[in-house]
Amino acid sequence: MRFSERFTLLFGALAICLAVLLTWTTTSVIDRAVEGRARERLEREADLLAAQIAAGPADLARIDSLIRLASKSLGVRATVIAPDGVVVDDSDVAPADIHKLENHGTRPEVVQAHSSRYGFSIRHSATLGFDLFYLARPLPAGKGFLRLAIPYSQLRHLESKYDWLAGGTIFLACALLFTIGSVAGRALTGPIRDVAEAALAVSRGDLEREPPAEGPREIVELSSAIRQMKTSLLDAAERAEAERRLADTVFQTLPDGVAVVDRHWKILDANPAFGRLLNSEAQAGRSLGDVLRDRELFDPFERAVQQQRPVEQTVERPDERTWIISAHPLSGVGGAAAVGIIHDVTEMRRNESLRRRFVADVSHELRTPIASILAASETLAGLDPSDPEVPHLVEVVQRQARRTQELIEDLTDLSLIESGLVPLELQPVDLRKLAEEVAADYQPAARERSIAIEVGGQDGVSATGDPRRVGQILRNLVDNAIKFSPDGAVVTIDFEQEGPDVVLSVRDAGVGIAPKEHDRIFQRFYQVDRSRSKSRPGTGLGLAIVKHLANLHGATVTVESAPGAGSRFSVRFPAQRR
Ligand code: ADP
Repeated sequence: MRFSERFTLLFGALAICLAVLLTWTTTSVIDRAVEGRARERLEREADLLAAQIAAGPADLARIDSLIRLASKSLGVRATVIAPDGVVVDDSDVAPADIHKLENHGTRPEVVQAHSSRYGFSIRHSATLGFDLFYLARPLPAGKGFLRLAIPYSQLRHLESKYDWLAGGTIFLACALLFTIGSVAGRALTGPIRDVAEAALAVSRGDLEREPPAEGPREIVELSSAIRQMKTSLLDAAERAEAERRLADTVFQTLPDGVAVVDRHWKILDANPAFGRLLNSEAQAGRSLGDVLRDRELFDPFERAVQQQRPVEQTVERPDERTWIISAHPLSGVGGAAAVGIIHDVTEMRRNESLRRRFVADVSHELRTPIASILAASETLAGLDPSDPEVPHLVEVVQRQARRTQELIEDLTDLSLIESGLVPLELQPVDLRKLAEEVAADYQPAARERSIAIEVGGQDGVSATGDPRRVGQILRNLVDNAIKFSPDGAVVTIDFEQEGPDVVLSVRDAGVGIAPKEHDRIFQRFYQVDRSRSKSRPGTGLGLAIVKHLANLHGATVTVESAPGAGSRFSVRFPAQRR
């Protein structure tokens, strides 16, 4: 039931109760007033009549005419009763019938009149069929009692108009009370209803709806509480939305493939990486089996759901990629049965194997010179200092120690360059100047083998780079060119503008390299044939350093060579870096 209806009902009940109470009170007040007035009147009339009766002789005819006159003029019934209760005379009864009247000695008013001045009673007259007021008083000198009676209706008639007036007033007052009550109820519950409706609208998600801002203080307080609730609801919704968006972005951009499936193996959600890795459309609703197309891939999902525990499995793909598939059971989460993650670890495994190979290579490369040093020094230890073998063995120790040193320096350099810890100080590098410096540095070594180093190229060609590092590239290439050239050959350093690019190259007429080796020679420690070096053996790291340094500059290194036809190594610096 609505609050306003309760108010109306309450005030209705209140109005009815009040009407009953007021009517009862008013009626009894009027009744009492009528009674009082009737009594007073009858007392005065009885006093007067008794005085008249006592003033003359006790002649029955005189008394009879007196009481009949009084009865007529006063509208009352007068009865004269002897002290023993016998009715002596009655204004309404013919004298001949008086003896038929029963003894009045036991009438309450007569009994009362024995002990007090007046006796009074209201009784229903069976003879007349209506209520009567009786008042009795003793007659002077113990001559009995005078009783006056008057019909109650006669007295009440006068007051009836007051009854109507009082009744009307009570009705109007109660109706007014009821109206005020229900209007007040409505006025009071109106704002409550507005607040309730606003709260309901907010709970249904209509966040635009504002609760009333005006009205009684309690309503304003309630409205402000709802407004605060709405604000925190909005904040919470915003936060939840931001978190959902974040989770979605992470899900969408995750490099690992993620798919959630239900217990019928239908995909509920899958991120783009999942489809990309499987080279298939992995949209929601599709069967997981159709998307995976491989029993081995499906197996972890199946086991995770069957055994209700996470399952992880490494899978080697036919295209030599390695995946780790982990499937987790998801019981009771939005109908999801499992979530599977495909993590592509190919690169990681490749790096691990490269690292292992690198360690093996380094140990291998270091083992040879150190073994030579050890062998030579052990032999030396047993020889007499004047032994003719001593200088040779000392030279072996020195050479191998130098080689070890070079190896360690190259390795340190390479690892620094590879890890990006070499800061480049980029600036225009005058290639002619650089080439002439490098040629001059290598002149002594070249001259030993009658090799000529020529600097060709155009004037004014410059590349943007770190002069020290571009110099290191050029030194490595010139060093190789000399190393793999026959005595008396020519090594040429060239640099030219080719369209927007600048190309720096080193050409020799040495042993050359078979095309199938062209890629491998840039790998660490790779050497085509150690015995080919015309001078000292290398470390196999020079070209790897060249390649990494060139890449740091955004440049590319290429080789043109064939066995017996010499080689040309070119470094192309792209335009945008210049
Ligand atoms: P190394 O220290 O052996 O020179 P590099 O990494 O500089 O190591 O070169 C790798 C291999 O490439 C060499 O061992 C050699 O076989 C081959 N190579 C490099 N430069 C030349 C060249 N100019 N002529 C012929 N072969 C070369």
